Amino acid sequence: EEDIRSCAGCGVKLQTEATDKLGYVPAAALEKELPICQRCFRIKNYNEAASIALDQDDFLRLLGGIAGTKSLVVHIVDLFDFEGSLISGLQRFVGNNPVLLVVNKIDLLPKGINPNRLLNWVQKQTKKEGLKVVDVVLCSAKRNIGFERVIESIGRHRGDRDVYVVGATNVGKSTLINRLIRDYSDLERELTTSRYPGTTLDAVHIPLDDGKEIIDTPGIVYKHRLTEIVPRDVLGALLPDKPIKQLVYQLNAGQTLFFGALARFDFIDGDRQSFSIYISNALQVHRTKLERADELFAEHKGELLAPPSREQLEDIPAWTRHRLNIRRGTDTDIFISGLGWIHVNGASGALIDIHAPKGIRVLTRDALI
Ligand code: GDP
Repeated sequence: EEDIRSCAGCGVKLQTEATDKLGYVPAAALEKELPICQRCFRIKNYNEAASIALDQDDFLRLLGGIAGTKSLVVHIVDLFDFEGSLISGLQRFVGNNPVLLVVNKIDLLPKGINPNRLLNWVQKQTKKEGLKVVDVVLCSAKRNIGFERVIESIGRHRGDRDVYVVGATNVGKSTLINRLIRDYSDLERELTTSRYPGTTLDAVHIPLDDGKEIIDTPGIVYKHRLTEIVPRDVLGALLPDKPIKQLVYQLNAGQTLFFGALARFDFIDGDRQSFSIYISNALQVHRTKLERADELFAEHKGELLAPPSREQLEDIPAWTRHRLNIRRGTDTDIFISGLGWIHVNGASGALIDIHAPKGIRVLTRDALI
């Protein structure tokens, strides 16, 4: 007898189980005549966007809906997980709409990095991924760095378009939207959420001063990011909050580094050299001999080698090995999506094995720093 009701704001199907999924509504609020989901409720009553996640298929369906609109697409990526948070194929889905790339969390990089170099790096990587963008802006939504330039660029490219904000989960999309709401929405007018009749875009519409809207879409969940496959309390250790202090290790071939029990780095072959680790400083790095590594892991995973805990590890895929040959003369990062990267200076080349949970994206790239 229970009918599935829809949100009177965004049109999404309502559910009372998962707070971080689309359509969540507290059971009591479901009794109302025109129930709205918690996400719409928060925007309407507190001017506050909330993080909501969608799996890939639903997300792509949503993206496809943008092609038929006249919009500026603001794509937010996380500089700390650049290759992990870039939406591949975005170009195809948004049609002729211009894409503005906002690179968030620049506060995490060590101080003293040349912003122009950073910008060049981002532009180059973006091109490599086949994404055409009208502008790239670096910012920190949380620390309020570079935000005027985000606003300025949106203003410059928007014309009479609505603004769709898209991103993977945990890139800081709601933090950024909340700043936009605070600084730019029309607070005199009641903040209403509107819907497309007949279609569910699962997007929340936030009116702006000039009658246009910012449209908040759910975040896409990518299982190739470590941050998506760990439990919540481990996520806190993975997502850095403060500028990263790189850890420099002088290693000989035949040495291994464990990053908690999340991944492992084996220096298989090459001259003695230094490796710089850029990961959340809340994670423990453990150095050992390669020949001892399997045994150490079997005995101490989830305890000395943690997080995750032993029980949590049962829900995380077993590791697979990625063999990487870093050639002499190339300044390279070994990137592990959601964890961070290891910088290898190309002075002498190195043969490296990375062990990471199956499905997690591991790749080499031109050095960011
Ligand atoms: P969403 O899932 O994309 O909506 O992301 P949230 O806005 O909820 O942010 C995800 C996490 O990243 C939270 O822990 C935020 O505090 C953090 N975060 C957001 N913006 C920044 C930033 O500019 N710098 C840093 N260091 N952390 C940020």
